[in-house]
Amino acid sequence: MIDQNNGLLLGLDERELVDSPLLGCRIHRQGLDPLLFLAERAASAGFILKVASSYRSFERQLLIWNNKARGLRPVLNDAGEAIDINVLSERDKVFAILRWSALPGASRHHWGTDVDVYGSAHMDPEYQLQLTVAETQGDGPFAEFHCWLNDELAQGSSNFFRPYAQDRGGVAPEPWHLSYAPLATIFSRQLTQDLLRGQLEQTDLELKQVVLDNLDEIFQQFIRID
Ligand SMILES: [Zn+2]
Repeated sequence: MIDQNNGLLLGLDERELVDSPLLGCRIHRQGLDPLLFLAERAASAGFILKVASSYRSFERQLLIWNNKARGLRPVLNDAGEAIDINVLSERDKVFAILRWSALPGASRHHWGTDVDVYGSAHMDPEYQLQLTVAETQGDGPFAEFHCWLNDELAQGSSNFFRPYAQDRGGVAPEPWHLSYAPLATIFSRQLTQDLLRGQLEQTDLELKQVVLDNLDEIFQQFIRID
């Protein structure tokens, strides 16, 4: 059993994290070998697995959130197009941001167990990564990699899963987002609404009162996914 570490759950404690020079990412120390194993499996199938994003701190997620709420960073609709959030009510602003960005303190990337990955057999060095569903399907540059990943995850030896595989009306589908199940399922259970509320109450968060007033609904729709 893993002792509960509230700082780690909220992205405030980096003591369990390690850096992987090979993958160029920061990750929970217990998730490193499993991720390296997955990368080796990908390599033996002819793919280079790359990590686009791994651990993200509370402060970093807070900056993303506040910049979106202030209109300094684009907020996207379901089609991935930027929307004008100035015309939205405060409540609608909150839910529009949540479609693509986690609430600070509630990002699975805080735990060091979750990574955004992409991969291909031959990566064009000029290619600008977008992390869109279109890239993972059909003629997309990572479609073959995701096809392989489907089989790999179904087979289960790596213990990674896709928490945002399906659109449940909360977080938009993110097939590139992988979660290391043995740790992430524990952390997901340990992150309670009360813990999150306590942290947000003492944070300089844009739209804070609306978030706190709607936290129960937000928690059910966007955070509690397993
Ligand atoms: Zn992600």
